[in-house]
Amino acid sequence: MFSRELASHGRAFVNYQALSQVEVKDMIIDDFPAKLFFNPARVRSVMADVSPEALQKRACFLCPDGVEENQLTHNWESPTGHTYYIRVNPFPIFSPHFTVSSSVHERQELLPHLEAMLHLAKELPEMTIFYNGPMCGASAPDHMHFQAVPRHSLPIEDHFSTNYANAILVQETDLQSHLEAVKRVLAMGTIPEEASQTGSLTIGASHAEEYEPRWNIVSWYEPDSNSPQDGLTAADSQTSNSRRRSFNTIVFFRKESRPMCFFAPEEERILFSPATVEMAGIGIVANRESFDRLTPSKLRDIIREVADEII
Ligand SMILES: [Zn+2]
Repeated sequence: MFSRELASHGRAFVNYQALSQVEVKDMIIDDFPAKLFFNPARVRSVMADVSPEALQKRACFLCPDGVEENQLTHNWESPTGHTYYIRVNPFPIFSPHFTVSSSVHERQELLPHLEAMLHLAKELPEMTIFYNGPMCGASAPDHMHFQAVPRHSLPIEDHFSTNYANAILVQETDLQSHLEAVKRVLAMGTIPEEASQTGSLTIGASHAEEYEPRWNIVSWYEPDSNSPQDGLTAADSQTSNSRRRSFNTIVFFRKESRPMCFFAPEEERILFSPATVEMAGIGIVANRESFDRLTPSKLRDIIREVADEII
């Protein structure tokens, strides 16, 4: 599907070409290998106006009527009964980069789709699946969607650190116990006065007038994680497997949607709008001034400013 779409010379083709010209700065922050990308084609996402008024005025680009000309759609039937559209992201960060959106126009909300997200990770073990909360970087908070990018694209996958963005890692060997374990972590993001009962767990919002806690989520599946490795004793194998379970999910709780520097006067403004990719170690800016102003210590401060410390 991906190569067919590139060959169609649609807008996706143009932006994937632009991707090869992205400038990259390596930033080691407290031993965590973050990167900064200067990608002018991402300006629409960085600057996205997701206010209800703005959303009402634009055609939804994840609904069939709003997709780009030449953009192909693959229907994915989740074992949970939901249908999702998998499409090439016309404004990519990675290559390939897919959007996975609900076949119905419904709000961005994790819990009704979390199990499907884990099934998708298992069906696409070469991809990492992520979710941007409606106040945490989603450009279409009115239309439920995940994104899928190649495994190992995000530094946090291979260099897990709780220091960088207060990440919480959940690992289990089977899908149902992983789902329950992730929900238990998600429940920690709820403030009591916003709580509502969801099954046996209480999960509500973390901020007034919002319907779910602010969070960014990353999931992937390791197909070979349970096979014993050659040359290791049982004890060694157990130790090494403690970081290699089949189902892996990282949760980032968020305090702020955007950092103060986003709203600063023009001469010191940094147009940086953290979503999952940023929390996971890849900063994206779409203009030259922000790229030059964003030093490693500034990036660390911004991530700390927007991250929430739950545990
Ligand atoms: Zn829609």
